[in-house]
Amino acid sequence: MNIVLVGPPGAGKGTQAESIIETYKIPQIATGDMFREAVSQETELGKKAKEFMNAGKLVPDEVTIGIVRERLSKPDCENGFLLDGFPRTIVQAEALEDIMKDLNKDIEAVVNISVPDEIIVRRIVGRRLCKNCNLVYHVEFNPPKQDGVCDKCSKNLIQRADDQEDTAVNRLNVYATETNPVLDFYAKKGVLINIDGNRARSVVWEDIKKALDKYDRN
Ligand code: ADP
Ligand code: AMP
Repeated sequence: MNIVLVGPPGAGKGTQAESIIETYKIPQIATGDMFREAVSQETELGKKAKEFMNAGKLVPDEVTIGIVRERLSKPDCENGFLLDGFPRTIVQAEALEDIMKDLNKDIEAVVNISVPDEIIVRRIVGRRLCKNCNLVYHVEFNPPKQDGVCDKCSKNLIQRADDQEDTAVNRLNVYATETNPVLDFYAKKGVLINIDGNRARSVVWEDIKKALDKYDRN
């Protein structure tokens, strides 16, 4: 199954991705995680991405499209993949169409998780992340068993550099102008699935699973 997850920053894409990849056994391709890894390794890609990320801006399309094209060509994507946080612009959505054509594949479903802006800001400022395994927590809504420590791998949790209130507001504005048109793009193709993300994690997952089960080929 070839799936895309969209939704504003903090909507719960990474959280729901944990259930999706475990259930359907497909790799998660999260451009944000790829950029954060590059920044922490101080690679050329990381150097290019860092300033944009810290300002709450999008990394330029040509850079982002290049890393996604390369990643989707890897053998582990042959039986499906979950794109998380890509495409975020119309240029990226059109590039993804070209990549799919080249790989003889289609995007089968685009899951759009929506949550009101004021809830999102609370989610973003309380988010904590395991730097080792990328599991997502929230100090209030989804705390780890032991404060500041990952339940799964016992490594320390971190707060993302861009998870500050002012940057979160910038990211929401960027989403409204750059990414909203992507939703129309997929609605016109008839593959958009709208999910109300302003409910408990397990309830959101139930809805997503109901919608995606029919694409599962395993
Ligand atoms: P995204 O990947 O869309 O940026 P995340 O999955 O990282 O969003 O979620 C943002 C924050 O909100 C995290 O701290 C996460 O634990 C929390 N969160 C996710 N889903 C829910 C939910 N249904 N209810 C409350 N908090 C949630
Ligand atoms: P995320 O982890 O999805 O919230 O992404 C964190 C940051 O990485 C974003 O604010 C952007 O700066 C950058 N980023 C992630 N995905 C993309 C994308 N598809 N296009 C451009 N920039 C991206």
